[in-house]
Amino acid sequence: MKPADSINEVSNTMGLEIYSDGAPRQRRQRPSLKYAEAAREIPVFSQTDVLVIGGGPSGTSAAVAAAKLGADVTLVERYNHLGGLSTGGLVIWIDRMTDWHGKQVIAGFAEELFDRLPREAIMGPGKGEWGSRDAAVADYWSYRSAAFQGVVTWSPTIDPEALKSLSMAMVLERKVRLLLHAWAVQPIIKDGVMCGAIFESKEGRQAIFAKVVVDTTGDADLIARAGVDAETDIDTTDIHHCINTAFMLAGVDMERWTEFRRTDKQGFADFMNRGRETLQFFEKPFFSWRSDIALFMGPRLSGYSAIDVEDLTEVEIRSRHLMNGHLAFYRARAPGFEKAYLILSAPQTGVRHSRRFVAHNKVTRGQWDEGKVWDDEIGVSASPAPKWPNISVPYASLVPVGVEGVLGAGRHVACDASSHTFLREVPQCWMTGQAAGVAAALAAGSGQFPRDLDPRLIQRELLKQGAYLSPSIQSRAGLVFAEAK
Ligand SMILES: Cc1cc2nc3c(=O)[nH]c(=O)nc-3n(C[C@H](O)[C@H](O)[C@H](O)COP(=O)(O)OP(=O)(O)OC[C@H]3O[C@@H](n4cnc5c(N)ncnc54)[C@H](O)[C@@H]3O)c2cc1C
Repeated sequence: MKPADSINEVSNTMGLEIYSDGAPRQRRQRPSLKYAEAAREIPVFSQTDVLVIGGGPSGTSAAVAAAKLGADVTLVERYNHLGGLSTGGLVIWIDRMTDWHGKQVIAGFAEELFDRLPREAIMGPGKGEWGSRDAAVADYWSYRSAAFQGVVTWSPTIDPEALKSLSMAMVLERKVRLLLHAWAVQPIIKDGVMCGAIFESKEGRQAIFAKVVVDTTGDADLIARAGVDAETDIDTTDIHHCINTAFMLAGVDMERWTEFRRTDKQGFADFMNRGRETLQFFEKPFFSWRSDIALFMGPRLSGYSAIDVEDLTEVEIRSRHLMNGHLAFYRARAPGFEKAYLILSAPQTGVRHSRRFVAHNKVTRGQWDEGKVWDDEIGVSASPAPKWPNISVPYASLVPVGVEGVLGAGRHVACDASSHTFLREVPQCWMTGQAAGVAAALAAGSGQFPRDLDPRLIQRELLKQGAYLSPSIQSRAGLVFAEAK
């Protein structure tokens, strides 16, 4: 049976219409013409100390961190909400914030956020269980995204609307000037220094001048347009190059589904095989923050670029086709999904990787084994597996080469392809965002370029904001703090 026929077979059974056949579209050739856009004057919208572009995890965290230091901060976001992929992309499974011993190493902004999210908006293990290797506890949480390699981890799933609301509250209470529905299109560069950005909105094109810019667009939009080189190599055998639009099915019983997975391993394997035969790209659901909503962070599509407008369009068309196919297939065959319905497809396309900007240093696979602690460390990530120690992230990986006045944070920070597998995760983006925000405020306040800042000042402020740094860095920063007082 051809895949397309089998999709129709499933959809017809359910009386659902499939609106596209899921096959890749034929591209029309683009004309090889150029258009000379006329130079023009545009209004200056504002002047600010710190301009943060992109309100995802890294941008929200950067804006709050900079404002805590008293900087005047403007945050520009193209959509109508904050949280980026962690809300609008339905990436509501927040990856590990604990190391393999259960110690919370991604703290600071992340910790503040979870202290403030309503309890009913979070599903995850209690603090007492973090790091547990108890087989029964780990088995329970392994089906709920919070145990990995037999260790219970602090990696909860959350309600995206609660995170949107809290993110907005946190920036507004810090008096950040928030601009939604505003798309930054071009950095303003004078003598090699980024001193603002041009954005487009329903009002047209306007400029914002800033003492320091923080690019948290995820795709290094501003940094790349400033001419900074980017690394784009990625392991094509791994999921990190894949793009997709996530979706949620409601009206489900995830407890019943999990019981099926746990107790009927052959039935589950047959189900998955049948799904793959029928739809080609087939995904199993994750627990969300509630047992009547299932999360699908796929099906993952390969071979597309997140910075090519036609590729992004194609991903949306194919993802929608696959969403409808999944709905029909699960309703027909999955225990607990008989009454499922599509409650939401993600407003933001699920991009794992596009560019990683070139910076003064970067996190690399080479440092994992030796457990290198950078002198300019601004955060610590749990390692990908228990055999490696925690991974230190240097400040210089946030400082692009070739242009001054700008910092980058989030999933485009400087690292190699292997280290990108975890540096792009939501908690790590909160962590680099907070560091970039602190550094941007310090640089704006002192009139220095971010590159010239003393990292110990950044470390000291990060510790004051509740961030975690390696013990050797903590004691050194503590000394500096004591001297400064
Ligand atoms: C399918 C998928 C599954 C994933 N699974 C997990 C997981 O299980 N756990 C986990 O922790 N992480 C996961 N991740 C990774 C994680 O979601 C992202 O890497 C993380 O959200 C990146 O944060 P960010 O702030 O760098 O960028 P983003 O979340 O992409 O936010 C960038 C923000 O900037 C805005 N923006 C972009 N360009 C502009 C512009 N020019 N002007 C104005 N605004 C702009 C965007 O609208 C967006 O709001 C997953 C990612 C994907 C795609």
